[in-house]
Formats: sequence, C-alpha cells, structure tokens
Amino acid sequence: MARVYNFSAGPAVLPVEVLQEAADEMLDYRGSGMSVMEMSHRGKIFDGIIKEAEADLRELMQIPDNYKVLFLQGGAWTQFAAVPMNLMKNRKAAYIVTGQWAKKAWQEAGKYGEAVKVASSEDKTFSYIPDCSDLDIPEDADYVYICENNTIYGTKFHTLPNTKGKDLVADVSSCFLSEPVDVSKYAVIYGGVQKNIGPAGVVIAIIREDLITDDVLEGTPTMLKWKTQADNDSLFNTPPAYGIYICGKVFKWLRKQGGLEAIKANNEKKAKILYDYLDSSKLFRGTVRKEDRSLMNVPFVIGDKEMEARFVKEAEANGLVSLKGHRTVGGMRASIYNAMPIEGVEKLVAFMKEFEAANTAE
Ligand SMILES: *Cc1c(COP(=O)(O)O)cnc(C)c1O
Repeated sequence: MARVYNFSAGPAVLPVEVLQEAADEMLDYRGSGMSVMEMSHRGKIFDGIIKEAEADLRELMQIPDNYKVLFLQGGAWTQFAAVPMNLMKNRKAAYIVTGQWAKKAWQEAGKYGEAVKVASSEDKTFSYIPDCSDLDIPEDADYVYICENNTIYGTKFHTLPNTKGKDLVADVSSCFLSEPVDVSKYAVIYGGVQKNIGPAGVVIAIIREDLITDDVLEGTPTMLKWKTQADNDSLFNTPPAYGIYICGKVFKWLRKQGGLEAIKANNEKKAKILYDYLDSSKLFRGTVRKEDRSLMNVPFVIGDKEMEARFVKEAEANGLVSLKGHRTVGGMRASIYNAMPIEGVEKLVAFMKEFEAANTAE
C-alpha cells in the first residue's frame, strides 16, 4: 500500500482507519449481506446509520436542541441560493466578502434580493480579515453572512463579526469540526463535507429551528426549502446515503481522538510547525496576515514561478501531493485538515528545508 501525503484543498484526505473500516464493510455491512450503497434509505439499517451520525455530530459540536441538523446535497454552492431563499424576508442581507467563496455567495444572493457588501478584503487579494467590530449593517438586513475559513486564501475569522443583533450565517466548509464552536452564536452553520469531513456529495446544515418555516421566497424549489428536509429528517428524497455513512464514521473517529478540543490542539500543533518554518525561511513565505491565519489552509509562495513549479513537482515525487496553489493566488497551498497526520506536515517541512538549502546561494 502506497499512501501519499495529500495536501489537496478538497476533496481531501480522510482518516485511514475510516477508509479501512469502510473497505472491510464494503461487501457485507454488518451481516446485512450488502453494501451501504445498495440498501434502501428507508430501511432500518440506514435509519440507524443516519440517526447515529446525527447524534455523534450533536455530541461533538454540542449542538443545542433548538437547532436542526440537515444532511443535504448540491454542494455548498446550492446553499448560496438556499440561504437567501429561506431567510430573505425583507429581501436584504449583509455580506462580508473575504474570498472567492464569500464573493460567489454574495453574487448569488444578489439574484434574490439586495445583497449588501458591508466589508471586503479584496483590496489586498483577500490576505486578511477586515475589522468587523462596527460595520454598517442595514437595519432591515435579514442576516449577516460570512465564509468563516477562506479555503483559497488561507484566512479565518478568529473573532466572529459584530452582527448588531442580526442572525449570523456561516459557510464553514473548510473549517468544519476543526475546533470547538459555540453553535448558539450562529443562526445557520453549513458546509460541504468534502473539505474536512467526508466524501463529496454531502452538505451539512445546522439551522436554528425558528428559521425553518414555510415563509420562503416565492418560487423556492421544494428541495431547497429547508423545511422540506427538516420535516423529513433529511429523507425527503434519496439522500447521499453512502456519503452520510462515511461522515458518521469520521464523527466516531473524531470522538475517539478526544473530540474537538483535542482536534484543535492537534491542528494548532501541525499548523505551528508549518508557519514557524515559513516565518524563518529565506525562500518561502506565507501570504496571509499573521493574526488571520487559518489552521486548515496554508498558502505560501517563493515568488519565482519556475521554481514554484519545480517545487510542486519535486514534492510530488517525494509523496507530498496536491501542493499547487489556487490559480488566483499562485504559488503553493498546503491544506492540513483534521485527517492529515502530523508526520505529513513534518515531512513537508523537512522537504521544504532541503529544497531551500538546494536553491539558495550562500
Ligand atoms: C469548496 C468550497 C465551496 C464550494 O463547495 P461545493 O461543495 O463545491 O459547492 C464553498 N465554500 C467554501 C468555503 C469552500 O471551501
């Protein structure tokens, strides 16, 4: 078996134990004589799988009882539309634009109402999080929207914005379950699971119950109305059953690691190894303002395109793959999600040191 260290931003690395367990259960899930992929989503076995997944997620995140957990499809992108469709009662919302994903969500919301850009960090290629302590949030805004961890640029909100009492909606795709969160500070938390939780095809949305109503924008598709899904415990139509099953295994794995406090400590340890090196290197440098750095996505550059391309290629030959940066930032990006072992980060830094030594003249 030749596993590589996979630094992809998503779909991304999953815990080996989870993959192994899924492999062991592939042909015969616990005596059922079939794979989870082949069984009815209305049957007793799958009912147990989805209920247990939800219970484990609730336990991990300490989700209060007045929040619903939905397992949805359509990627985070579909929620860019579902959020305004379900929440824009006044047809107005405030968006904080801190990267491509926030920008896409803001543009999408503009199709359904007035999406007011109340802050942005685009002036410096989204390399920081703007001060959101006293924003000009419209009185009649239905919600304030953030992308909490900016996958492409490697920034994270370490303090939530002051929403001036408005409901906060957060896309947490790339920081989902990376550290403990106080769910009660949010109205809606959602994310595609293919970054930090499971296989592509599942979106998890955690929504405060009072926001799940029939009062949605006219023309909202049945499938995008949260109430449709909530009333049917995410089984209105055929759910992404196999993906949910894998997510459930990852939740168990996270609990076994000691829960989100322990995961956070581990993530901080991993990120520190990489950032400390970046801060001391004469060849590589991080692209993000220090206080806004993400624990999950770490972009860095050399500043010489030819040398960057060679670095990515040589790293790959050394079993360190998917380090090419997003096309809008260039350079490199190491995504070091929950399932990236510390050894992977150590090996990356050791390789970067070697590369630096070989490519800098004394
Ligand atoms: C990847 C990503 C998206 C897009 O996700 P899809 O599931 O492909 O729609 C949205 N937001 C964030 C923060 C992401 O990292």
